[in-house]
Amino acid sequence: MSYFDGKHAVVTGGGSGIGAAIAASLVSAGAAVTIMGRNDDKLRKVADDIGAARELADVTDREQVATAFASAVKNNGCVDILVNNAGMAQAVPFAKMQDELWDQTIAVNLTGVYNCTRVVTESMLAAGAGSIVNIASTAARTGFAYVAAYCAAKHGVLGLTRSLALEFAKKGITVNAVCPGYTNTDMVESAVENVIAKTGRTREQALAEILKSNPQGRLVEPEEVADAVIWLCQQQSVTGQAIAVDGGEVQ
Ligand code: NAP
Repeated sequence: MSYFDGKHAVVTGGGSGIGAAIAASLVSAGAAVTIMGRNDDKLRKVADDIGAARELADVTDREQVATAFASAVKNNGCVDILVNNAGMAQAVPFAKMQDELWDQTIAVNLTGVYNCTRVVTESMLAAGAGSIVNIASTAARTGFAYVAAYCAAKHGVLGLTRSLALEFAKKGITVNAVCPGYTNTDMVESAVENVIAKTGRTREQALAEILKSNPQGRLVEPEEVADAVIWLCQQQSVTGQAIAVDGGEVQ
């Protein structure tokens, strides 16, 4: 019997990229998995493919989050594992930052983590068990130019992770973060396109610029992030940690 048998895992942003890889790994490990996101077509494709349930929710909308989690719990039982993975990033010089972009970046990447964590807290406390894994970023551990809002949000995720780890330390709940470097998903593709549009570089040049940041000279694969999540879920004495999956980029 696997550690994950009989456990219900929710993965936000599970309809693509890192979230889809995490959801697939959790299903393979034996968990019942619900993926959440805003785009039902994306969710349905991944859910059908891997054998997961799906719920529509914008993580910034507390009513939608409450409804989606209530439905997920009705279908698959209380949430044992929460992976807060939904996120977005848009690069812009700080002097050109629009208030809307700042607000949206904090709402999705930081408040979204709060919203989803808040709705599972009571049942995890009542069960005296639970794993919460927040997909942060290298941008949670160091600053990067042109993504101030994203860095601020991801640093906030790490602060939340560390505080909750202490608060729940004697309650059977672990709270950790995984901090990927540039990972092979649509998010990096958008970053490449952004560099091409802003600098006129070729795709190869833009990608090479991004790869420079990784000492291994390659993108992280989504499955490598998923491996860290699977490992963290099974640890009882690892909590409050920021696990880097970044080829040695941030030390
Ligand atoms: P991605 O493919 O763009 O995935 C992001 C996911 O988040 C999408 O499935 C999207 O689904 C969902 N999402 C975005 N806004 C949402 C909202 N308001 N409510 C609910 N879901 C929302 O990018 P990814 O690379 O897999 O990113 C996953 C996580 O890894 C993010 O937290 C990101 O910050 C982090 N990360 C990525 C990298 C990288 O280089 N790729 C590096 C470090 C950290 P919908 O659009 O359907 O809602």
